Amino acid sequence: MDVIVVGAGIFGAAGALALAQRGHTVTLIDPGPIPHPLAASTDLSKLVRLDYGADAFYVEVMERALARWRSDPLFHETGVLFLTRAAMEGGFERDSFELLTARGHALERLDADEIARRFPAWAPGAYLDGYYNPEGGWAESGRVLAAYVERAREAGVDVRAGERVVDIARGVRTERDFLPAHTVVVAAGAWTPALVPELRGALRVVGQPVFHLVPPAPRAFTPPDFVPWSADIARTGWYGFALHPSGVVKIANHGPGTVIDPDAPRALPEGAEARVRAFVEPALPALAGAPLAGTRLCLYTDSADGDLWITRHPSREDLVIASGGSGHGFKLAPLLGDWIANAVEGVTDEATPRFGWRTPRSRLEPARHG
Ligand SMILES: Cc1cc2nc3c(=O)[nH]c(=O)nc-3n(C[C@H](O)[C@H](O)[C@H](O)COP(=O)(O)OP(=O)(O)OC[C@H]3O[C@@H](n4cnc5c(N)ncnc54)[C@H](O)[C@@H]3O)c2cc1C
Repeated sequence: MDVIVVGAGIFGAAGALALAQRGHTVTLIDPGPIPHPLAASTDLSKLVRLDYGADAFYVEVMERALARWRSDPLFHETGVLFLTRAAMEGGFERDSFELLTARGHALERLDADEIARRFPAWAPGAYLDGYYNPEGGWAESGRVLAAYVERAREAGVDVRAGERVVDIARGVRTERDFLPAHTVVVAAGAWTPALVPELRGALRVVGQPVFHLVPPAPRAFTPPDFVPWSADIARTGWYGFALHPSGVVKIANHGPGTVIDPDAPRALPEGAEARVRAFVEPALPALAGAPLAGTRLCLYTDSADGDLWITRHPSREDLVIASGGSGHGFKLAPLLGDWIANAVEGVTDEATPRFGWRTPRSRLEPARHG
């Protein structure tokens, strides 16, 4: 089958690779350069965690994805720290702790003293409860994406950087050309609703601020003393990483975000820096006043229920959607390819019930998975 994949982010690259490995003739198109600097997948790092609250579906698939991540040299299994200001009595952290423990994962519950002893960069007493999960960590996402594209090329995918798809009908029209195809996979991230307008009620694009701080004492922000973390994430949205080889500590927010047009300038919302400093100074005193090496406004493609969209279009049989990462899609990279290739081939799998076509809603208030 001739398949054109629109968008070389992690969804598109993983899909193109899996389709080529199954013997399809695949073209991957992106305005480029690839990895594209504005793509959500192109970043220093992404969190890879098993912890998904009470959602057993994501825990099950992440157990499989993690097993595959472990053979990727660009994945670093440092473990992940989940902190709560108050006792863990309900909510994301408690649900994750209970579900993962029930599934046999050896999590380490922490009280304020243990947090201070094991993770000394955190202000003593700022967090009273939480746990450390030794499984999981972070992936060098931009490099992972580049590696997927390279493997796709080696598998025979015709990778076309420098072309933007402007229309889709039995193939794609780019600014220069028309390319016919049996099936088109739209994996254009935040730009997907622009290419498939009927998804405007199903996918919403929001900007999320990312900060790269330069720690005055880098050693204090390295594993095992400092690992990727979330700090009362369901209530505050704050999460971050240990020192990156480039010398920065990345901090970001997994909150509601700011609705934005993907082609609009990527300026941080007013007050964004003040907000991160208001979080950092009482929680991570050694980062107080740390210079900013850079910031980024990265875009989530949010679905209403927080689940991905990997599905055939109900009335356009030549069209498959692969998007809706909703701020948590990168860690699923090792499984994305098979899910997308299955959707192209019309094969039902464990993801179909959650990622299949569902009626776009009139009001779109995205649910956050963790
Ligand atoms: C701030 C932030 C932090 C995140 N943190 C995490 C995390 O810690 N863990 C995790 O698992 N996930 C995380 N995510 C989510 C994850 O990054 C995304 O779910 C995933 O990267 C989305 O990949 P994608 O391929 O759908 O989109 P993208 O990576 O955005 O790729 C879309 C591609 O489509 C191309 N394109 C656009 N329009 C066209 C066109 N007309 N023609 C051709 N190509 C086109 C673009 O150039 C781009 O390369 C985070 C996301 C953000 C924004």
